[in-house]
Amino acid sequence: MAAATLPIVMNIALAALFAMSYVAIAVLHPTQRAAAWFAASYFVGMLTPIGMLGLSYTNLVRPYGTMVFFGFAGGLLLMVPGLAVFYRQRIPWRVIAAITAVTFAAGYALNQIDRNTLQYTMTYQLPFMLAAAASTWMVLKGSPRQGIDLVLAALFALITLHFPVKAVVAAMLGTGPTPAHYIRSTYALLSQVSTAILLVATGLTLLINATLVVLRDSQIAAETDALTGILNRRGFEARAARLLEQARRKAMPAALLLVDIDHFKRVNDTLGHAAGDRAIQALAATLRDVTPQSAVVGRVGGEEFAILLDRAGWEMARHQAEAVREAVLSSREAGMPALTVSVGVTAVGVGDQLLTALEHADAALYEAKRSGRNRVCIFREAPVIVAGQDLAARGGEGG
Ligand code: GH3
Ligand code: MG
Ligand code: MG
Repeated sequence: MAAATLPIVMNIALAALFAMSYVAIAVLHPTQRAAAWFAASYFVGMLTPIGMLGLSYTNLVRPYGTMVFFGFAGGLLLMVPGLAVFYRQRIPWRVIAAITAVTFAAGYALNQIDRNTLQYTMTYQLPFMLAAAASTWMVLKGSPRQGIDLVLAALFALITLHFPVKAVVAAMLGTGPTPAHYIRSTYALLSQVSTAILLVATGLTLLINATLVVLRDSQIAAETDALTGILNRRGFEARAARLLEQARRKAMPAALLLVDIDHFKRVNDTLGHAAGDRAIQALAATLRDVTPQSAVVGRVGGEEFAILLDRAGWEMARHQAEAVREAVLSSREAGMPALTVSVGVTAVGVGDQLLTALEHADAALYEAKRSGRNRVCIFREAPVIVAGQDLAARGGEGG
């Protein structure tokens, strides 16, 4: 058995493992388009160790030698669009086309050059070096970057640099009179092992990175309301709990607002469910606009929204609730009825649970509804109306 056979077989198994992992990600998460490119990259890259086995055990130098060279160049090159998609960059098709052209030119030139020259080994490694450099570039272009992205960029840079080093070493040691001799050489063994270590380290880093992105995207999707794009109940509760924990540590007051559209059933009944949906979307946007960036805003029921304000005492909470009520009142859209909202407000004391705060805000909201709607009610010991206006007095509809 040739010395390099074992690492070659291991490389086939590893490439297959990575390819199948990316297939799994691509199938389970169709939005992860990068995974399909990465899977393709490893499948094409597998041609290289398979071709090497062919070179070791047959006399078919031309076909297997071609397979080794183009499989490796193709595998590396397919990383580039994958990384572009992964890092939300435009796919650099021109660069890819140029490297493809260089690869074919090199493949042709290799047949004309004496194997044991630096010119040959450099020509051989050139396409790989260019493809790895393009991959490094894609990772570095992606932002915002995290530690794992920098590790990935460093690994791709290392891969890029190791190709010319290999070319020099190969020229010095000689690559044998034929590929069949080469594959049995100690150099081939070292070359296979060093490249495999780098590719496995890179493959693992990339796989971890891709998995983290999938997990993060799934969590965001699970915590986002599909209609409005703001947090859903689950997301609101998770974020609000975190914010309350922070407030507790810093001994900062917080306040909770519950906002419910008044007589929303009428909107659905008179204008239809689709118009109702649009009204809910518009309200979500309004709430996001009038509340501070640091506030947690979520859709916690059909047409019921919750806002958790940090660093907010009574005055601030009441002011904010009134601002919400006014903003809704003045944001009448064409073809829509004038919507109004009722708001229940409660302070969240240090040590108070979110659930308790929600109950208090709900009691205040109930009182706001009961006393005529389109008003703000705060919960102290008991709910107290603090602001609002009878719609009849404004000449509006509803009431
Ligand atoms: P109130 O002033 O007492 O709040 O009256 P209301 O009509 O708003 O009553 P309630 O809050 O009980 O009713 C909520 C209605 O909101 C019932 C449901 O048809 C409607 N709704 C809930 N979710 C959606 C949604 O996603 N889209 C639409 N179009 N309507 C929804
Ligand atoms: Mg309602
Ligand atoms: Mg409701």
